[in-house]
Amino acid sequence: MTQYEAIIGLETHIQLNTQTKIFCGCKADSWDDAPNTNICPVCSGLPGSLPVPNAAVVAKAVRLAKAMQADIQAESYFDRKNYFYPDLPKGYQITQYDKSIATGGHMDVPMPDGSTRRVGIHKLHMEEDAGKTRNEKGRRLIDFNRCGVPLIEMVTGPDLRSADEAAEYLIRLRQLLRWLDISEADMEKAHLRTDANVSIRVRGETHLNTKTEIKNVNSIESLRAAVEKEIARQIQAYEAGERIEAWTLDWDENAQTLRKMRSKETEADYRYFKDPDLLAVRLEPAWLEGVLADFPELPLARRARFIEQYGLPEYDANILTSERSLSDYFEAAAAAYAGDVKRVSNWMMNDVLKLLNERGLEAGQLKLRPEQLAEIIQLVDANTINTPTGKSLLEKVQDSGHSPQEIVAAEGLSQVSDSGALRELAEKIIASSPDNVEKYRAGKDSLIGWFVGQLMRESQGKADPNAARAILEELLKG
Ligand code: ZN
Ligand code: MN
Repeated sequence: MTQYEAIIGLETHIQLNTQTKIFCGCKADSWDDAPNTNICPVCSGLPGSLPVPNAAVVAKAVRLAKAMQADIQAESYFDRKNYFYPDLPKGYQITQYDKSIATGGHMDVPMPDGSTRRVGIHKLHMEEDAGKTRNEKGRRLIDFNRCGVPLIEMVTGPDLRSADEAAEYLIRLRQLLRWLDISEADMEKAHLRTDANVSIRVRGETHLNTKTEIKNVNSIESLRAAVEKEIARQIQAYEAGERIEAWTLDWDENAQTLRKMRSKETEADYRYFKDPDLLAVRLEPAWLEGVLADFPELPLARRARFIEQYGLPEYDANILTSERSLSDYFEAAAAAYAGDVKRVSNWMMNDVLKLLNERGLEAGQLKLRPEQLAEIIQLVDANTINTPTGKSLLEKVQDSGHSPQEIVAAEGLSQVSDSGALRELAEKIIASSPDNVEKYRAGKDSLIGWFVGQLMRESQGKADPNAARAILEELLKG
């Protein structure tokens, strides 16, 4: 393998999370709906109907183009891509061909080994989706619900060098799409459909060899597995002196194998021409400014800033920027907290994430506010409450909506670190467990944990465990 390198480019269709379709008022997301219930004369291609572009689709395309640092075009056009297939009622797909919404651009993808791969963007355009066909009991059924669902097609250059790099690109793209609220990017619901172009060459060569195209991978793991298999197959064929042919390959998820499909139409077969029913897409400067006015700091930039500004380890910064509302939450908690921000990061990664997972929530939906998280950590720092009490407070604040201080006062959760009270508890436990006292005094030091546990229970979890241990040790030795 080390003698060869793989050349991979990805073509991704991104389903946008707009309310309505790209050229009509039908609901865009019909995942849970019965077939052919979200259709109208426009998206089912009835004669005489006319498409009207959805400005929300253009706005999302502009935001993605900006994130890719592409040149946003003040004027672009919609074209017709003609082909005949039962799920395409008009006999053509409306897409963008020679003059699309953006040109150029790139995405810098951090790799697990610490390097960064710059992935060029060769194409970024808006288009409509086609319907779905299904075979059932020997009949071919057609569902037009998906006709006219808005998509962005984005094609990278041949810039990725391994199956892992391809997977990383897709992971970062999915994160970015959610961050920018462009797409739900749920691969199981086919919001991100990726085809991979794969070729190999002997390391050091600069020309591109014949590539194959892998279709129908619908998860990141499938992409990784399919690309890996195809690279291995091409190397084997090359070494056996066989020619690599420009096949289209279908990934079979169940069998985990690639199967050769029909050969593909060439561009000329599609007879592209400008759609005469649609005017040019012209972006007014004021409108464009509005769309980009609240453009956020992007996840990778925020990740770098978290490392730089807060001194967080890369591991923490990666998790805390995995999702936008989580990173906002962390920053708000960090701002409210007086102390080492790594403490906030630890609580976020251990306890807040656990709470989010258990409740199926995003950080932005928590009733436990970031300032309250900071307050709880500070109550622990000040020894007002112990750590287990602090952890249980997260849920109590989330469930009751009361402030941490209120709950501590109402439930008497303040930590018992008063040495008189602790000594009293310790004496009681020692008096009631002569057997263990004897064993401890005979050298079984590990029993100290048992004594501390008893004292914690006796104090209903409120004792300061460190102070309790010190007093127990003192009394047991005496
Ligand atoms: Zn419609
Ligand atoms: Mn397409």
